[in-house]
Amino acid sequence: MKYICLSAFLLAFSIAAFAQKADLVLINGNIVTLKQKGDRAQAMAIAGDKIMAEGSVQEISKYIDKNTKVIDLKGKTVLPGFNDVHQHPAPLYTFDKPYATLELDTVTSMKNLVALLKRKAAITPKGMLIRGVGYNETKLGGQPIRDSLDKASADHPIIISHVSGHLSAANSMLMEMNGIDENTVDPAGGAFERYPNSKRPDGICKEVAASYLHKSKQIKYPPKPTADEEMEGYRKYFSNVLASGVTSIGDAWTTPEKVVIYRKLVAEGFPMRFNVLMGTPYAADLINGKIQRSNTDHLRIQGVKVIHGNSLSGKTCWLYEPYDMINRVTGKKDYYGIPPARSQASLDSLFLAIHKAGLQIACHSNGDREIDMVISAIEKAQKAVPRGDARHRIEHCSITNQGILDKIKADGIVPVFHCYMYELGEKMQVYGEKRMAMLHPTKTAMDMGIVYALHSDAPISPYPAMIRLGSAVNRKTKDGGIVIGANQRIDAEDAIKAYTYGGAYTTFEEEKKGRLIAGQLADLIVLDQDPTTIDSDKIYDIKVTMTVAGGKVVFGK
Ligand SMILES: [Zn+2]
Repeated sequence: MKYICLSAFLLAFSIAAFAQKADLVLINGNIVTLKQKGDRAQAMAIAGDKIMAEGSVQEISKYIDKNTKVIDLKGKTVLPGFNDVHQHPAPLYTFDKPYATLELDTVTSMKNLVALLKRKAAITPKGMLIRGVGYNETKLGGQPIRDSLDKASADHPIIISHVSGHLSAANSMLMEMNGIDENTVDPAGGAFERYPNSKRPDGICKEVAASYLHKSKQIKYPPKPTADEEMEGYRKYFSNVLASGVTSIGDAWTTPEKVVIYRKLVAEGFPMRFNVLMGTPYAADLINGKIQRSNTDHLRIQGVKVIHGNSLSGKTCWLYEPYDMINRVTGKKDYYGIPPARSQASLDSLFLAIHKAGLQIACHSNGDREIDMVISAIEKAQKAVPRGDARHRIEHCSITNQGILDKIKADGIVPVFHCYMYELGEKMQVYGEKRMAMLHPTKTAMDMGIVYALHSDAPISPYPAMIRLGSAVNRKTKDGGIVIGANQRIDAEDAIKAYTYGGAYTTFEEEKKGRLIAGQLADLIVLDQDPTTIDSDKIYDIKVTMTVAGGKVVFGK
């Protein structure tokens, strides 16, 4: 009896499934499914948050009934929503808010920088700290040393951080408040830049040295936004990200306070999908369960972000061979970057603790000498506690060589390459031709069958999907048109796959999202041009006209 009931139920269920109609159908499109390379569908049926089927208009029309919303794409191109696996999301505030930090990545001269800081100083109470992020010394025509920042204000302490996030510039008021002068010695893992032939710091503080700028108790910080203002700032930020073609993001250094924000966004039904990597100081709480893990379609908390090594664009990452530039202090080519402050032994034990707890390691590392330390620590952890398919990640994974890639492949490590040549390519020239040929080696890794992801590291480089895609395909600088590592170029469809399937792979979700095939989450973007056929220099100009996340139109119409 029991069995009869069960088969009757299954029969009824399969009839229902066959008769199921779509909530949303897209027709007359150029749908890049990523099922195989070159595969295109004309139409797609979506029910709830998943794709039911893709195929020809005729095949898909059977899913339409009177309640189905049908969108005629009129030949437009559809891609899976991009997955920007490594960002540093921050709430968006308007300039006049006292807690708003200035965005400096678009400032193109020292004069404009000083003028902008002056405008901010004019609406900021005297003595209160003024903050900016993302300055680019290539655009400014030099580092914004204290002399420049002093012109903006002598009544406000000022701190602005470099686009790499690895150096900060301060004005004299802030340097003096923190007692940083000619007698201050460089800390391990950091350096104060000095005026030529002098010990006097010029205001540029590298790596660990930048933390000295926050030591003084006298610093008057701007008031904090209220919890509601902050939530609104995050909604604004993530709405912009969705509109730019990105439907999943990774936060590559999350604090417990930010976890609360992500949980709130998910609870209110915000359509973005979040992968949270806790910052190293919170690893213990994640391991012991004080921070709860999560593994849903909208929120994953399963990993720890570790920073081991320094910056590529900030020219501080640690190398085996010296940088291709003259060391200002010695007058020779003998600068190898700054060694990581953490020893191999301490990295080994940190990784082992994370690995043993069944969590994923995502370790920032740029220089070849740093990357080898990271691989060695992963290998030791795996040897001590073997764990199949752990997919530990190396973030940025910039200066590589064949030996590094062989180990990455053998160890099942997932490289998460940056590819920001469009914005910061000029800075790569200090690594010389030989190293540039294996910098973010997207082609070599692909040919070796290594699955990898790409990312913006926003705000280090901007997150809009088409800018990132253009940068990965062209590897060309925006201003000079210099190509960095032409041998590592990949075509648009392979780069799209890295941004979608590759992104999903980094979070063990490749069976769930990243391709436009039946059963996967209906996260997709509609474009006004086809990036796989357009002149690759024009990819940046392609417009995202619609974003669908979880089967719902969340941007455009
Ligand atoms: Zn980062």
